[in-house]
Amino acid sequence: MNTEKLVVPKKVNGSKLNGFSLEEIGDDHLYTGLETPMKADAFKMSDAEKKERISILFREIMEVMGLDLNDDSLQGTPDRVAKMYIDEIFSGLNPKNKPKVALFDNKYQYNQMLVEKNITFYSNCEHHFVPIIGKAHVAYISSGKVIGLSKLNRIVQFYAKRPQVQERLTNQIGTDLQEILGTKDVAVIIDAKHLCVSSRGIKDDTSATVTTFYGGAFNNAEKIRELQSYIND
Ligand SMILES: [Zn+2]
Repeated sequence: MNTEKLVVPKKVNGSKLNGFSLEEIGDDHLYTGLETPMKADAFKMSDAEKKERISILFREIMEVMGLDLNDDSLQGTPDRVAKMYIDEIFSGLNPKNKPKVALFDNKYQYNQMLVEKNITFYSNCEHHFVPIIGKAHVAYISSGKVIGLSKLNRIVQFYAKRPQVQERLTNQIGTDLQEILGTKDVAVIIDAKHLCVSSRGIKDDTSATVTTFYGGAFNNAEKIRELQSYIND
């Protein structure tokens, strides 16, 4: 068993952003930019090393909370959590896990909007590390190239598998699809439930959050109405 001692960085107190404390920002789910904030050396450690390290640290959290890690039911938890973080729920942090996307010529000359709706995703709130569960609706108008439908789903899943803020998730999917498809005509609508809102804090079980990204031709009231009519169908 690894008994490495922890070096806990000193907590910086009193940091403020636009007059709000970091605690307030976290609970209000404000976010600071399009890119997921990453350290420059984010991928210096291998996945195997990260899993080993997270397992040690998660064990420490459990022990601090007073859990008995000798219990058969808890023994494997630190390793399981570490593996789940790196290989599954936060695998979208690593660019190497980004889905490879092939484009095809738009042979059918279909030049209306294509909507892939009700893409179910599971993400995690970066302020509380509890789930965000929702549906994404993605639309684009081909500029001559098309993408396999399952790839739209995979791109949503890739960005969902990060600690996220819903606005950033929406914009990351939208801007990446614009780049992949070579067109500004991309729309993303996300309708999601945040467990940090429903199961803790304000404990509102019925509210949902809707965020939108309307690029190019979608930035138009009539197009938005058309898109929404397909989604609400
Ligand atoms: Zn949260």
